Amino acid sequence: MKGAWLWGGAIALLLWLIPGPVIGANLPPLHPHPLPFLFQAFTAAEEEDYFAALESTPLGALVWSDFPITVGFDLVGENPAQAQAWLAAVRQGLQDWQVYVPLIETADLENADIVVVRSRPPRQITIDRTAGRLNIPAAQHGQARYQVYLTPTDPPRLAHRFTVYISPHQGQRQTIGTARHEFGHALGIWGHSPNREDVLYETQVSNPPPISPRDLNTLKRVYQQPTRLGWPLTPRQ
Ligand SMILES: [Zn+2]
Repeated sequence: MKGAWLWGGAIALLLWLIPGPVIGANLPPLHPHPLPFLFQAFTAAEEEDYFAALESTPLGALVWSDFPITVGFDLVGENPAQAQAWLAAVRQGLQDWQVYVPLIETADLENADIVVVRSRPPRQITIDRTAGRLNIPAAQHGQARYQVYLTPTDPPRLAHRFTVYISPHQGQRQTIGTARHEFGHALGIWGHSPNREDVLYETQVSNPPPISPRDLNTLKRVYQQPTRLGWPLTPRQ
């Protein structure tokens, strides 16, 4: 019967909308982690960085505290043979950072710290209600986003996970440059450099530069900052 079916449907929808219990918890206080061993070895040729240009986040510094950081590749249904050129370029971008930071590849996409998606970044269209129009940003070749979750430990710790989109529609050199740039964000450089010779320069250049001493000095400073990530949650009293 149609009516009954509709009624059943309505109940299912209502149940679906009933929120589950929300457990109150206090955010972990901001606290720095010890500087990872490899980062101590960064040699600052000149004491220069662009730390002041970075953005702050409600979590504090977006630093990793469990090493190695795991990186998975989501080929979005493409088989590895056809995605070979993209994979080689993205792996090159990863290898450039592996010299300084413990990063390893994993096939376990569900638990990877950083998932690199072989796709153009989804455009984030926003609605301007007062002007009654859509704001459609320009298409990008790469993007890094993070998400927060709780670790299944007792007590749970606040943790983050990055999704990095890298377009499959670029030449080899640009794909390497994009990967290097987006990995820089995922490692914790949340913002851009005003200098075009840095990997984290805000716009793409025709000849993407290698990781600079300024990139490394900036990353090292990020890892000396306080963060809420990696610390346990305290239940609300
Ligand atoms: Zn960027």
